[in-house]
Amino acid sequence: VKRDIPAAEALAQILAQTPVLGLETASLGDLLGRVLGEDVRSTRVLPPADNSAMDGYAVCAADCASASDRAPVSLPIAFEVPAGRIDVPRLARGQAARILTGAALPPGADSVVRQEDTERDGERIAIRVAPELGENVRRAGEDVQRGELVLEAGVRIGPAQIGVLASLGRTVVAVHQRPRVAVLSGGDELVEPDGDVAGGRIVSSNSWSIAAQCRELGAEPVYLGIARDTPDDIERRLRAGLAADVIVSSAGVSVGDRDFVRGVLEKLGCRLHFWGVRIKPGFPLAFGRVGDDARGPLVFGLPGNPVSALMTFEQFVRPALLRMQGARRLHRPLVRARVAETMRKKPGRMHLVRVTLERDGDAVVARSTGNQSSGVLTSMIRAQGILIFPAEASEIAAGASAAVQVLDGDFLAAQTPGF
Ligand code: AMP
Ligand code: MG
Repeated sequence: VKRDIPAAEALAQILAQTPVLGLETASLGDLLGRVLGEDVRSTRVLPPADNSAMDGYAVCAADCASASDRAPVSLPIAFEVPAGRIDVPRLARGQAARILTGAALPPGADSVVRQEDTERDGERIAIRVAPELGENVRRAGEDVQRGELVLEAGVRIGPAQIGVLASLGRTVVAVHQRPRVAVLSGGDELVEPDGDVAGGRIVSSNSWSIAAQCRELGAEPVYLGIARDTPDDIERRLRAGLAADVIVSSAGVSVGDRDFVRGVLEKLGCRLHFWGVRIKPGFPLAFGRVGDDARGPLVFGLPGNPVSALMTFEQFVRPALLRMQGARRLHRPLVRARVAETMRKKPGRMHLVRVTLERDGDAVVARSTGNQSSGVLTSMIRAQGILIFPAEASEIAAGASAAVQVLDGDFLAAQTPGF
């Protein structure tokens, strides 16, 4: 077991052990937020045929090249093409066809004159504006060609991707499996949120925040409950998690007399890779894997402190859960921000400073949320970013810049829509 390693080494070890999960199929309605597991090529042409972008009249541009307000060109209306008509006849030279938006362009026509640029006169139409060749026509294939690579494996599926898949008739696609995450809390002082807190008992908030962090990423939490501080109860509950892809346990991995989690994990065949990461908050983080065949669940022993638990999940569990789902991007947006007030610390550990973010013109300004004690859970509510205060640094002067992971892009939300 390695001890007291730097954050970057810890993350590298974790990712080296993290498998990409296999594929399953999912249908259109269930794709939001999943990671695509296949390259999607189009078997269709989109749009499937030349069609009209306007309500108006399909014509041959050469027939109305001289049209103007003062000298409109009058053409007979040969037929109508509502959207959805499939047996569209050929348009002869010197004629116009009434056409509606999305309707197939008749063969023989090459342009559409907007209704607003015409005057109806019984069975004839007077055209007041000469169309450019191809005006108001959406060409077959201008969106997607047959055989074109439209979506690549590894993209996270959002509303636009779902719309494109629907257009291509792909009702079912391959996606990466969701990691199943067994979540264990431990401590004799802990109760569930509706429990009796008399005598200073503590609500197991980690159970809920960690489950939520999993869900936010598309992983499925499986709650193992609160283990009492006895090796037997911890073992019994951890065994139930052995079938999961990941086990996340909070508390009990430190050096206290009743911190049995590490010992039990080893008994269950978990090989610990490291214990202790040079960060604050979050030092007592342990990572290992069950089984020698690189198939057992990854095991994260997070610190019990609610802030430390959220923070170490954010830094170390989150990228692993994303990798498992086949995602290409594992990290939060990173910005350089100007530090509002001087920050100081002792060299040795990297500090993960909870900061609020605000815009100042084109710059981003970061300000500490205040008390950085790992017991102050509300600091995580206010945190819009996590400022990286490097291990060996002892000061970041006011006005200097630092790297900040953006947790919440809402600080960019504007007062106006920008139009
Ligand atoms: P431990 O690692 O057991 O020494 O716990 C460190 C601190 O975190 C203690 O103050 C615990 O009460 C607190 N703690 C441990 N587990 C949880 C949890 N599931 N939810 C909230 N606080 C916890
Ligand atoms: Mg404890």
